[in-house]
Amino acid sequence: MAGRFAPSPTSDLHVGNLRTAVVAWLMARHAGMEHLIRVEDLDATRVRAAPQVAARQLDDLAALGITSDGPIVWQSERLDRYAAAVEALPTYPCFCTRREIAEAASAPHEDGYRPYPGTCRDLSVAERAARQAERPPALRVDAGSATVTVQDQWAGAVTGVVDDFVVRRNDGAFAYNLAVVVDDLAQGITQVVRGDDLLTSSPRQAWLARALGGTEPHYAHVGLVVNDQGRRLAKRDGSVTLADLAAQGWTPARVLGTLGASLGLCAADEDVDLAGLLERFDPARRPSAWVATPWLDR
Ligand code: GLU
Repeated sequence: MAGRFAPSPTSDLHVGNLRTAVVAWLMARHAGMEHLIRVEDLDATRVRAAPQVAARQLDDLAALGITSDGPIVWQSERLDRYAAAVEALPTYPCFCTRREIAEAASAPHEDGYRPYPGTCRDLSVAERAARQAERPPALRVDAGSATVTVQDQWAGAVTGVVDDFVVRRNDGAFAYNLAVVVDDLAQGITQVVRGDDLLTSSPRQAWLARALGGTEPHYAHVGLVVNDQGRRLAKRDGSVTLADLAAQGWTPARVLGTLGASLGLCAADEDVDLAGLLERFDPARRPSAWVATPWLDR
């Protein structure tokens, strides 16, 4: 039984990521569980500075008191596990370009995700061979249009039709959805706390967990930190990384106080640490979206 925080080292963590990490830690501790950190660096080859970014992310988390109770897991070191999982799944090669999918698929979902219409599922051997000569295929799971409902701590029941999503991209890289599920199962993760931009991915991931012979974790999706236009916070919105804030005199305790206040746990001007927040934490209270007013440029 464990919870986790799993950042991708694509850029420094901003206060929105940190707030989610705080909630992940509080949820795990409140349930008396370990809290693990996993670096989701499958795209590390595309982000040149990924190891340095990851190191800064881990430092920033540690500055707030968020550490891993076990060894930190790096996805880039676990490719053999993902390969074995892909072997164990019903999959088929897909030759569709992004454009072909956009033209063939139904309208994108609210979150921008385009369910795959199954174009390549029933290609004949000859058709596959012909298309293979044009481009390397991605691998998709054959999910049989399953409908899966998961329970989220705050959103309640979330139902999704599982499309034939990609598990290995056509550049050979394993897909996020695959790696996250393989690792959560392998690490004994029973509680997944993360940003609610991933809420709609949960039925897909739960299907995969079951297809791999496991059980999905308990999900808890945290409202995102947004700018004053209601859009997901980005670095250009203001002083939003711990380094930006430190340069302006913010201590980790003040940052935690402000994040804690956004969760209804303390006053905004209070200096706190995680233990202090844990004493006041109530998992029944939903961490809703929050406008990062104190930190936005204006
Ligand atoms: N690595 C993902 C991200 O940084 C989070 C994955 C997850 O928590 O399931 O967006």
